[in-house]
Amino acid sequence: MPYVQCPLCEDTIHLHVRDSPAEWEAKYIRQRSDSGMPLLICGNCWEALQPGERIVLRAPPAELAASLPIGTEGTVESAAGDAFVAVFGQTQVVIDRSAISRVVEGSSTQH
Ligand SMILES: [Zn+2]
Repeated sequence: MPYVQCPLCEDTIHLHVRDSPAEWEAKYIRQRSDSGMPLLICGNCWEALQPGERIVLRAPPAELAASLPIGTEGTVESAAGDAFVAVFGQTQVVIDRSAISRVVEGSSTQH
């Protein structure tokens, strides 16, 4: 059964599929991680982020990496397609969807 990784939150998901894993991957997988893991957006990330949602920074823009480390929590202020305006503390940033992850209430960061 195939394992896939979500490119947005980096969770790894184990799927039970009807086809053989090779057939399934040929049908649905278009991208792989650097280590060869099939990439597929997970259910939590598929749902569009809404203004007011809590997010965590996973890939800070280069110019902000010094002041906003990976893992900084923030809030979505507005969304237009894949571009989001997010607020981290006092800093307002226009940021790409792939640079942020939704904070899932009750989820643990320990694996
Ligand atoms: Zn995800």
